[in-house]
Amino acid sequence: MEIKYYFDYNATTPTDPRVVEAMKPYFFETFHNPSSFYRKASEANAAVETAREKVAKLINAEPREIFFTGGGTESDNLALQGTASKLKDKGNHIITSAIEHPAVLKACKFLKTKGYEITYLPVDQNGFVDPDDLKKSIKDTTILVTIMHANNEIGTLQPLKELAKIAHEKGIYFHTDAVQSTGKIPVDVKELDVDMLSCSSHKIYGPKGVGVFYKKHKVKIDPLIFGGGHEKGLRAGTENVPGIVGMGKAAELALAEMDDEERRIRPLRDKIQKGIIETIPEVFINGDTQDKLYNTTNVSVRYIEGESILAMLDGEGFALSSGSACSSKSLDPSHVLLAIGLKHEDAHGSLRISLGKYNTDEEADRLLEVLPPIVERLRSMSPFWKKK
Ligand SMILES: *Cc1c(COP(=O)(O)O)cnc(C)c1O
Repeated sequence: MEIKYYFDYNATTPTDPRVVEAMKPYFFETFHNPSSFYRKASEANAAVETAREKVAKLINAEPREIFFTGGGTESDNLALQGTASKLKDKGNHIITSAIEHPAVLKACKFLKTKGYEITYLPVDQNGFVDPDDLKKSIKDTTILVTIMHANNEIGTLQPLKELAKIAHEKGIYFHTDAVQSTGKIPVDVKELDVDMLSCSSHKIYGPKGVGVFYKKHKVKIDPLIFGGGHEKGLRAGTENVPGIVGMGKAAELALAEMDDEERRIRPLRDKIQKGIIETIPEVFINGDTQDKLYNTTNVSVRYIEGESILAMLDGEGFALSSGSACSSKSLDPSHVLLAIGLKHEDAHGSLRISLGKYNTDEEADRLLEVLPPIVERLRSMSPFWKKK
């Protein structure tokens, strides 16, 4: 597979060729609508159910607790808006964190316009929510706590089990956006004791536009999308059969290969992280250095702009991300980096390096070879660096 210098796996992943193979028949000989009556239709339906079983196995859920959606964003919106709508007579208060994905933050912002009250828990300098803060922010009107598992920018893993326990002691639902953790590390909904969970196919080598929403069987929420009775009435619309089959295959592969992937990728990430610190002056790691996703590192290179580095790296065939303003298409730098206490200028100088299954040792070496001279060149043109 020819993917050169791709270090942006947290943004999306290439589809695994084995996933594409599994999907193929459902575009052609078994293209049928799973709800139709004939034999071919029941084959399509059976494929959806097999995929549901595979996804359930990945997160230790029951198949009936798995619902297919149009992506991680939709699953997050379903958790938030579906709970808010269902429990509106019970209360109007939702607790989340300051470092959530926009899929959660923008849904909260929308709910605020509808009369809901939102509490954004702060995080410490490593990106962790303090369970005591959660305890203190719960009110009689709290109906939902939603806190992400792994952060997409800095990789920090939240103490979910402890946080869920606090919510449950007060009888409050707990949802987690586990888009970045599912398929990379063990995610067990029973062990974590979450009521709802979101994950996404394209972050785990499956096709784009397919998401999973897990809901504990006894949890009742309202749908976002109305229509036919698909997905037990929780998500109407003819099933994306090839996509769902792809998600199922991706889940199966992730479960089987997760341990080997971690053993291979963690040392590559560590090598890059260490190499950058040792060869470039005035850089620092954002977020925890240890307790985070094994594939992610986020560094701030002081006195220059992240996107200038990205542009020069792009010229060398490298694809990665930055938390600076332009690359996030907004005026402010990453809300995550600001939430962990970075100054604006340091957030602007950030680089996110996220690895995945096609990265090699040679690629890591190549990155460490090209990055220092790029930084040196940009700094030589930077007024901030000269003034120092
Ligand atoms: C990518 C991502 C999403 C959105 O998932 P889509 O399938 O792209 O809609 C939500 N949350 C996190 C943490 C993500 O990384």
